[in-house]
Amino acid sequence: MTSVTFNNVSKYYGNFAAVDDLNLTVEDQEFLVLVGPSGCGKTTSLRMLAGLEDISTGTIQIGERIVNDEPPKARDIAMVFQSYALYPHWTIYDNLAFGLRMRNVSFSQNFLVFLLQAILYSIALGIFYAFSYVIEFLLPDVGALLFISGLIGGIVTLIMFAEVRHDIRRFILNLKLLPALASMAEIENEIEMKVKETSTLLGIREQLFKKPKQLSGGQRQRVALGRAIIRSPEVFLMDEPLSNLDAKLRVQMRAELQRMQKRLKTTTIYVTHDQIEAMTLADRIAIMNEGVLQQVGTPDEVYTTPVNKFVAGFIGSPSMNFSEGKIIVDQGELFFESGSFKYPVPSQYREILREVFAGKLVWLGIRPEHIQLTEYSASRQVMASVGVLEPIGSDTYVYIDFPKEESMIVKVEGIAGFKLDEELDVKFLPEHLHFFNYETGHRINPEEAE
Ligand code: ATP
Repeated sequence: MTSVTFNNVSKYYGNFAAVDDLNLTVEDQEFLVLVGPSGCGKTTSLRMLAGLEDISTGTIQIGERIVNDEPPKARDIAMVFQSYALYPHWTIYDNLAFGLRMRNVSFSQNFLVFLLQAILYSIALGIFYAFSYVIEFLLPDVGALLFISGLIGGIVTLIMFAEVRHDIRRFILNLKLLPALASMAEIENEIEMKVKETSTLLGIREQLFKKPKQLSGGQRQRVALGRAIIRSPEVFLMDEPLSNLDAKLRVQMRAELQRMQKRLKTTTIYVTHDQIEAMTLADRIAIMNEGVLQQVGTPDEVYTTPVNKFVAGFIGSPSMNFSEGKIIVDQGELFFESGSFKYPVPSQYREILREVFAGKLVWLGIRPEHIQLTEYSASRQVMASVGVLEPIGSDTYVYIDFPKEESMIVKVEGIAGFKLDEELDVKFLPEHLHFFNYETGHRINPEEAE
């Protein structure tokens, strides 16, 4: 079982808290996405977990182990970064195999193979040279030419075809000439099996003997992922691994990542500042701001019941609309009144807003998909005009302007049949309205009134 727990973890740079008292548990096999704006402390949290950054206060646990003092290598964590960090002169096979070789094959073993390879090439050259004498003797006119072209052909084959070099290396190993090489042969056989399995899983099996620069961005990112997967670590840490890819590839890789994680069942922490990526990938999302964890929950929870105005505004695209206004009582009825409109408070909020917030400033929050626009009729309470129309194919974003320079975005299904400057009635779906404390930004929870 590999859960990851941050207990009161903080990271200070001088007096500045990059991460402030983080308490978070990532369950075994869970895909947790850490999301937040730039500089909110996501990467620092990951780096502390990976052992690349000292922890100022608190403890980090992997399973039952407190790992504060464990070196990065001992933590059994694999990281994937935004930059692929592949070795450019190595084949994809060697890039994938590198981590496993580092762990299992000693420098002297590798050197021995290199030496044997050099000896084998020298023997081959010797045989070839001797053979050339025979040809020279039998065919005095063309013998030298045949020899030189054969030699050049051999060298070019070795330089050009990584697969040939790989096969020669494997051949030497499998001769098991020395006991040290016999064990290495076993390890290399196992590595080969894993490289093939991982490359098949990631759809890069055909690319194994190419160099990174011969691959597309998406394929390179798959290699970077493969390098993490192949080690079968206890925990994956991914820091914006898809942000170098174009939009279409990102969507495709998102789905692949999800499938892969569910198959491998490895506890994963994934960092991004892209809330759509967070919503689509996560079992649970942890939202951070200015070093402080704001909320942890399923995508649905953080979307429907954000704890505060920051989370409400950060999750969802386009963002939630906010309006600043006062809770007022008019002829016994409760209203939210901004400079632009006066809206009756929905029934579930009446008790708490009347008891605690009457006469006070609050924020009203409503998502673009929870606003209905209809043709203007004088009887309605809220009126706005169409400022901008943004059709995106499946939907249209309608920017509506209220008096007093207030505006909101409305998401309308399909192509909206409105005209610019047209006056419309605006209806907020009451069950989807949110109110936030003006001072603290906390969401006002209607259930607290009960
Ligand atoms: P991004 O999405 O831009 O990568 P992030 O959420 O990952 O941002 P971090 O890299 O964790 O943010 O940085 C958190 C804060 O700590 C930032 O304000 C950053 O400037 C600060 N910080 C990070 N490393 C150091 C350092 N070595 N010295 C001083 N301040 C640092």
